[in-house]
Amino acid sequence: MSIRKIAIVGGGASGLVASIAASSKGSKVYILERLDRVGKKILATGNGRCNITNINTDITRFHGKDKSFINETLKQFDVPATIEFFEKLGVKCKIEDEGKAYPYSDQASSVLDVLRYEAERLGVIELCGCYVSQIKQKKGIFEIGIKDKEKLAVDKVIVAAGGKASPNLGSNGSGYDLVIPFGHKLIETFPALVQLKLDAPFLKALKGVKFEGTVTLGLGNKELQRESGEILYTDYGISGPPIFQLSRKAGEQLAVGRKPWLTVDMFRDFEYEELMEVLRKRMANACEKPLDFSFVGLINKRLIPILLKASGVIDIHKHCKEVSEEELKNICHKLKMWRFEVIGTQSWTEAQVTAGGIDTKDVNPNTMESKLVKGIYFAGEILDVDGDCGGFNLQWAWSSGYTAGKYASE
Ligand SMILES: Cc1cc2nc3c(=O)[nH]c(=O)nc-3n(C[C@H](O)[C@H](O)[C@H](O)COP(=O)(O)OP(=O)(O)OC[C@H]3O[C@@H](n4cnc5c(N)ncnc54)[C@H](O)[C@@H]3O)c2cc1C
Repeated sequence: MSIRKIAIVGGGASGLVASIAASSKGSKVYILERLDRVGKKILATGNGRCNITNINTDITRFHGKDKSFINETLKQFDVPATIEFFEKLGVKCKIEDEGKAYPYSDQASSVLDVLRYEAERLGVIELCGCYVSQIKQKKGIFEIGIKDKEKLAVDKVIVAAGGKASPNLGSNGSGYDLVIPFGHKLIETFPALVQLKLDAPFLKALKGVKFEGTVTLGLGNKELQRESGEILYTDYGISGPPIFQLSRKAGEQLAVGRKPWLTVDMFRDFEYEELMEVLRKRMANACEKPLDFSFVGLINKRLIPILLKASGVIDIHKHCKEVSEEELKNICHKLKMWRFEVIGTQSWTEAQVTAGGIDTKDVNPNTMESKLVKGIYFAGEILDVDGDCGGFNLQWAWSSGYTAGKYASE
C-alpha cells in the first residue's frame, strides 16, 4: 500500500502541530507556507514569551456560533495533553497569574524551535514561499494550486491558514477562498483582541496616559462586560489587557451597527463617596492653591486640564476654595465613570485574533474533517472559534491541529 500524502496549508501553530500528529502516524506530510518561514506568529505571541495555554481552560473562555463543537474538539487534545506534548518536546511550562502557562525559557522562539525540530525529525517537508491559491478534487485526489509553482497532488488536505488577524504575520483571509468553493460557509468576521476607538476630541492630549482601572462596556441601559487591569489612552482611543478582553463583545455590537459605550473607572480602589471625601480634603488642605495644581500627585498631569474641562469647570486655575460642591461631584463622577462612545475597533493589522470564520456546522468536531468533502480537514483560527486573551487561542490551535493531523492520517 502506498504511503498517504497530506498537504497542510499554513505553517502556523495549528499547522505545525497537525504536521507532527499526522507524520507520527506514518503519513508523508507537506507544510505549504506562504511566508518565507513557518511560525512567524508564534514568535510574536505573549509579548515574545508565548502564553502557550491556560490551566483554567473551559468553554466559557471561547466564542463562536457552536460552543458544543468547540468543547468536543478541546476534549480531543486537552490542556494536560498539550502540556505533556510540549514537555516531551522539551518545553517545560510554568503557570503564572490567572492560570496562564508560559515556557520556562520565557521565549516564544523555543516553542517554535521544538515544533520545527520534531516535524523535521518525523520527516515533514516544509515548503515556504508557497502561496496556496486553489484546492481541486479530482478522482479522490486533491490538487493543490500554488502561485507560480507546480501543483501538488495529495490524498488529504488540512486547511490551517488562520483568519485575517495580523496579516503581516501571515494570515490574510486567503484560506476562506480555498474552501468556500466546496460549499463551506463563512460566518462574518471582525477583529478581536484589539484596541477600541473612542469618540472624544481630546484623545491626542491623553496619548500615553496609563493607570490601573476598571472598564465597563454597555449598550443602552445594559452592562455587557466589566474588566480590570492596566489601561492606556491612545490618540485614537483606549488600549490595554482589559480593553482587549472587552473588544470581542464591542466588535459584536459594532458589527451589527450598534454603538456601545464604555465607562472608565480610574479609582477602582475607592467607592464614589470615599473618593468625594478624598477630594473634599484636598480642597480644604490647599484652599489657596490653583485647582489644576491641586490634582498634581493624584492623577497623571496630562489628564488634569482635560478632566477639569470635561467636568464643566470653566476656570481651571481658580483657587480650590472657590470650587463648588457641584463641581467637585462632577469631577469625582468623571474619575469614577468617565463615559465614552465606542466608534470602532482598530484594524486587522492590530488585531490578535479573528472572530467568526468558517462555519463549524459543516465540520466534524471529533475529527475536524469536513462534512461536505471527505479528505478536507480544518485546524485553528480559520474556523468560527476564538478565545479570550490568556492562552486560549493557542490552546484552540493545538487541540484542533492535533485532532486534524491525527484523523487525517488514520
Ligand atoms: C501579536 C499576537 C500575540 C498573540 N499572543 C497569543 C498568546 O500569547 N496566547 C494565545 O493563546 N494566543 C495568542 N495569539 C493568537 C494566536 O497566535 C493565534 O490564535 C494562533 O496562532 C492561530 O494559529 P493558526 O495556526 O490557526 O493560524 P496562524 O498562526 O495565523 O497561521 C496561519 C498560517 O497560514 C499561512 N497561510 C495563510 N494563507 C495561506 C495560503 N493561502 N497559502 C499558504 N499559507 C498560508 C500564514 O502565513 C500563517 O503562517 C496572539 C496573536 C498575535 C497576533
